[in-house]
Order: sequence, then structure tokens, then C-alpha cells
Amino acid sequence: MPGRRLPDWMRRPIESSAALRRTRELLGSVHTVCREARCPNLAECYGRHTATFLILGPVCTRSCAFCAVGKGRPHPVDPEEPDNVALAASRLALSHVVITSVTRDDLPDGGAAHFAAVVGAVKKECPGSVVELLVPDFQGQAAALETVLAAGPDILNHNLETVPRLYPVVRPGAGYARSLELLARAGRTGVRTKSGIMLGLGEEREEVLAVLADLRQAGVDFLTLGQYLAPSEFHYQVRAYVTPQEFEFYRNRADQAGFTGVAAGPYVRSSYRAGELAGPKILDRNNPKPPLQDDGGTEERKPPEDRTVPEHF
Ligand code: SF4
Repeated sequence: MPGRRLPDWMRRPIESSAALRRTRELLGSVHTVCREARCPNLAECYGRHTATFLILGPVCTRSCAFCAVGKGRPHPVDPEEPDNVALAASRLALSHVVITSVTRDDLPDGGAAHFAAVVGAVKKECPGSVVELLVPDFQGQAAALETVLAAGPDILNHNLETVPRLYPVVRPGAGYARSLELLARAGRTGVRTKSGIMLGLGEEREEVLAVLADLRQAGVDFLTLGQYLAPSEFHYQVRAYVTPQEFEFYRNRADQAGFTGVAAGPYVRSSYRAGELAGPKILDRNNPKPPLQDDGGTEERKPPEDRTVPEHF
């Protein structure tokens, strides 16, 4: 297992800037996943006056082995959060607003109505901005996903995070087939969909390529691939540092597979430069994505594990 010393290609200067401090001020009291998940890109993104909002509190009800976000008893839902997020997005003058949440298995709808309220508030406060959501799996509740989609996000992101073989260790409580089905279901409504996985968790190349094929079959438009970094010695440890050449290989294979946009690199995260990844393709509302055929979603090509048909989707 590699030690905590980073390979040369992952070394970066530590940044600190007035812009970063200004972003912190403009964010006010709202939570960001940049900070809660100890994202290694925080200085760069805050320095560019961008951030990804974390709603529904900073405490998650699941125990994913890779994630630095706090776990335990979740906070009550803050009814003022939709307006506070919208105001922060406005203060930052964001043209591409990315919103994610902790997983809230304690809430009957998984927080779907709150997501919808935040989308509504942001659209009102920042008209013309692109709204990208990075959602949890809502435990497979189709009604929750419909609630979120009815609010009109421009991009619906849901990360697979890793290959199916590693789910029991890396992402217990989630299901590979269930997550794929969420993406396929969302894509069939015409919304742009996005997903990503982390590399360096012990996956094999063929397993990664199989995930890319599954995502394309689910109609996913945008893909992110990045290097996993352990937030601490108590989290799942890095099994390999993926070289820039290997990222380039995956990017080429993803392009060939037909994704509309691909971001692949050691420091790529699912919300990293999200506006650039979507680009004018998403801003062109005169050219909507054609709805996918309802062909049974992910049934044709079965993932190697987690073959259970989702209970709810
Ligand atoms: S990559 Fe995403 S989570 Fe990380 S700092 Fe940038 S916006 Fe925040």
C-alpha cells in the first residue's frame, strides 16, 4: 500500500490569496462540501470565487469509508437554508451553482423537498444561472427523485464513486445497481446527467472500463475521474496513485464511449470546474437533450455484483 507521501505529479504549491479569504466572507454561514470534505482543491476553487454548497447539514447518516464529512446524528433541517444558499450564490455571482447534500436516510423523503426548495430559491435569486445537483441515492425512492427533478435542475449528478466489487467496503449502505438506475431514470426525463468515480481504491482497469460502459448505457452525459486521497489515517487508504498517462487513457476511452464531457486527472473532483465541463452545451437551452428511450435502463448489461433489481426504482 502506498505511503502518505504524494508522487511528484500530485505535488502542488500551497495557495493562499485575498480572493480565497473573500470567498469565505461571501459564503457567510452556509456549508460547503469543499470545507466539510477537506477537498484538496479548496484553495484553487475558493480563489476563483467558486464553491459547492452542502445542504441538509454537515452530518451524514451513512459511513462511507472514503468520506471526511462528519457522521452521526444529523441536524434538523434549516428552513432558512434555501434562501441563505441562494444569497451566497448571488454574492459570489455564480453562473454555475453546484449543490450537494449529506445523505439523510433519517428523513422520509431523503431531503428531496429541501433540495427542490433550494433549487427554487437559487433560480429566483440567480436567474439564468445553471443549477447542478449532486444528489444522494434517496434509498431508491422514485418519488424523491421526481420531487427533485420537478424543481428543474439543469444537471443531475450522482456519483458511483467506485467499481461494484468495492461497494461493500467503500460505500456500504449504497448499491451499484440502485445508483445506476437513479441516473438512467433521471436521464430518461431529459435532464443532463453526470457521474464520477474515484481511482486508486484498488480497482482494476477492466472494472473501470465496465463502469464507463454501464454509465453510457444509463445515458449519462458527463463523467469525472479523479485520484482518491484518504482524508486521514482512519479512512480507507489509497491503494494506488494513478499516473497522468493512465488518466489520459481513461479519458480517451470515455470520449470514445460517447460522453458529452469528460474531466479526468489526479485532482478532478465531481464539482471541480463544473461550469467548464458543462460549458455551452448545457447553456444552450434551445438544444435540449433528447429523452432516452425507456428500454429497461440498466437491465441489459448486468454489473458483476449487486445484481439485485432495486426495490423501489
Ligand atoms: S473541487 Fe468541488 S468540492 Fe473541491 S473545492 Fe472545488 S468546488 Fe469545492
